[in-house]
Amino acid sequence: MSGSKCTRLSGALVKQLLDSVDSVLFDCDGVIWRGDQVVPGAPEVINLLKENGKKVFFVTNNSSKTRKMYAEKMSAMGFAVTEDEVFGTAYCCAMYLRTVCKLQGKVYLVGSAAMEQELEAVGIQQTGVGPDHVSGRPADWANVPLDPEVKAVVVGFDEHFSYMKLNRALQYLTQQGCLFVGTNRDTRLPLEGGKAVPGTGCLLQAVETAAQCQAQTVGKPNHFMFDCVASQFGVDRDRCLMVGDRLDTDIMLGSNCGLKTLLTLTGVSTVAEAEAHQKSGCAERQGMVPDYYVESIADLLPALQG
Ligand SMILES: [Mg+2]
Repeated sequence: MSGSKCTRLSGALVKQLLDSVDSVLFDCDGVIWRGDQVVPGAPEVINLLKENGKKVFFVTNNSSKTRKMYAEKMSAMGFAVTEDEVFGTAYCCAMYLRTVCKLQGKVYLVGSAAMEQELEAVGIQQTGVGPDHVSGRPADWANVPLDPEVKAVVVGFDEHFSYMKLNRALQYLTQQGCLFVGTNRDTRLPLEGGKAVPGTGCLLQAVETAAQCQAQTVGKPNHFMFDCVASQFGVDRDRCLMVGDRLDTDIMLGSNCGLKTLLTLTGVSTVAEAEAHQKSGCAERQGMVPDYYVESIADLLPALQG
């Protein structure tokens, strides 16, 4: 049944698929871990893929960590990973501003210290990280002092998001030629036990609503994340597999880039949702139908151990 989409991956089909690829891109949240809990069997799968000569990369929309922080978290969980195999949106956003936007100037950053570090690593200065409490009255807020060197507003995950940050972003975006970039549009960050907290998409939408304009987003499903990996490691898209738990970001990225796609059911999306997209007859929704699905990436283990 390898011709039809949304096929359960099991038996001989697993080895067949793995033999057909040289590179595997993994999403992180909901795929290899949930919050701080590793998905059972995930480290063995990743490490065996690498032992079998596959190139393995991690592409995550989560902007709260630097590549180094991710590599440290993964190593502690038993994954054999190096920093350069990790592509988070904090890093990719900095690369986007440097290589695509060719930004000359500073960033007003609604984001984390991790984003600040990745920006600094590519030579971009920022202002805005940390709490920004409200003071004064509306007339003062509209005339809040602005840094004349700021040429872009960047929105990522920011636990200190506030009214003053929203206001400051609006005042910068009102200026002629100010770029507007977001890391991703995920509205929720899934945690252990089916819990979730508001994601970056909520913050980005608030800024877009205030500024009455749309940001360019860097994260999945935008092909830029794949371009980043491909340009640094020479990945052949015909022999590349994207593994993720979300249809609208991970699977869509794979479809957008012409990769093979595998949905894992340890995170957000379900097979029923994938089948609904498939049966909808809507062309735009077909990009959210994976080629294959598994209960967990641990289902790849027998083929790798054999
Ligand atoms: Mg995920």
